[in-house]
Amino acid sequence: MKNIFLNSREKPNLVVGAGLCGAVIAERIANVLNEKVLIIDKNSYVGGLCCDYKNRSGVLVNKFGIHVFHTSNKPVWNYINSFGEFNTFFHKVFAYIDGELVNLPLNISSLRVIFPESLAKRLEYKLLNLFSYNSDVSVNFLRTAGDSDLDFLADFILDKLSKPYAEKLFPNALQKDFPYDFIRISMDCRYYSEKFQGVPKLGYTSLIENMLRSPNIELSLNTDYNYMISKNFKRIFFTGSIDDCFNYKYGMLKYKSVEMKIIGNAEFFAQDCSVVKYPEDFDFSAIHKFKGNAGSIFAKEYWSDYVYGGNARAYPLCDGENFKLYKQYKKYSKIFPDLYFLGRQGSFKPYSMSEVIEEALRLFDNLAFSADKSIDGVVDNCR
Ligand SMILES: Cc1cc2nc3c(=O)[nH]c(=O)nc-3n(C[C@H](O)[C@H](O)[C@H](O)COP(=O)(O)OP(=O)(O)OC[C@H]3O[C@@H](n4cnc5c(N)ncnc54)[C@H](O)[C@@H]3O)c2cc1C
Repeated sequence: MKNIFLNSREKPNLVVGAGLCGAVIAERIANVLNEKVLIIDKNSYVGGLCCDYKNRSGVLVNKFGIHVFHTSNKPVWNYINSFGEFNTFFHKVFAYIDGELVNLPLNISSLRVIFPESLAKRLEYKLLNLFSYNSDVSVNFLRTAGDSDLDFLADFILDKLSKPYAEKLFPNALQKDFPYDFIRISMDCRYYSEKFQGVPKLGYTSLIENMLRSPNIELSLNTDYNYMISKNFKRIFFTGSIDDCFNYKYGMLKYKSVEMKIIGNAEFFAQDCSVVKYPEDFDFSAIHKFKGNAGSIFAKEYWSDYVYGGNARAYPLCDGENFKLYKQYKKYSKIFPDLYFLGRQGSFKPYSMSEVIEEALRLFDNLAFSADKSIDGVVDNCR
């Protein structure tokens, strides 16, 4: 660790975390403001949760599972595309329910896979009559119709999909977050419904390396923030967890962690789409398929509690007491004027990649220009 910028006359900015969010703020400060940036990561690689690598047979594998970029925000889409080419890719995800592969999120076509034809037709007729086409109708909203068939559908979604899946992801959480507790009133079988969707041709790690390629940026891997506490910086952008920044003075925030266990390139394995979820019966929660010219690699997805020093913080548990603890740290952080928290950990929100970029661009905009300027002005400046 040389950290040449620490010895320069100009005080550098420090960015903690070389994930996507850290890369965006570092890139903007370095290339638009022409200031020095030291970006550090405790990992030996850049990319954080969206990092990827080529396996022995040349297939690009996402360390933490398939990542598809999705946004309806054109400036964000233009911004990210300026660092590497994207392949258009519409993510399709299925779940095993009662032994059948069913589209996720559930939609009108799922009804015919799960239920006998007469019931499916009845449900389809009622849903199309009562709710707007292309809307996502939650189980709670289904119940407002006061119809016994739709009550049955709401119970079915909760019992067969949402509750068992939540049990796998958040078994110890006080307040349960129920994933997929809605039905889409359309035949749209894409997992995401945003306008722009794709995956970078050369992967996210390569994309982030491109973002950090600037004479104003110095990258230091295997470097924890602890080593930097006594140093002097113009500003600090912290994309790690806020409790870590303050040495856990109020206690530790809870997160879930995720691990992908490679199960090989078994050609016999009949999985056509990129992700199949397993809400019930198995100890893993999904199987991911990474496809390359050299074949396909499969991996099982396992969720567990985050353990300090052990696994990665993947999903912030934003329920009751834990969120109060986050707020306590956030309040304390206000006494440090040039310290900013951002990103999935820093803002303690389960952000998508597009959302972390939006947040970083907005923060940059507020720092560099006036508070009321939109991010359009900022991304016009990008390479
Ligand atoms: C299983 C899974 C699937 C996902 N799929 C999608 C998807 O398909 N599409 C999508 O848009 N989003 C997806 N996401 C969300 C996406 O991964 C995140 O939005 C994005 O990667 C967050 O970037 P970040 O930079 O904010 O955080 P992170 O990627 O967590 O980066 C933070 C970095 O900070 C470093 N750091 C932390 N503390 C310190 C410290 N003290 N010192 C030094 N370094 C430190 C960490 O090592 C890490 O590299 C998924 C997330 C998960 C968990």
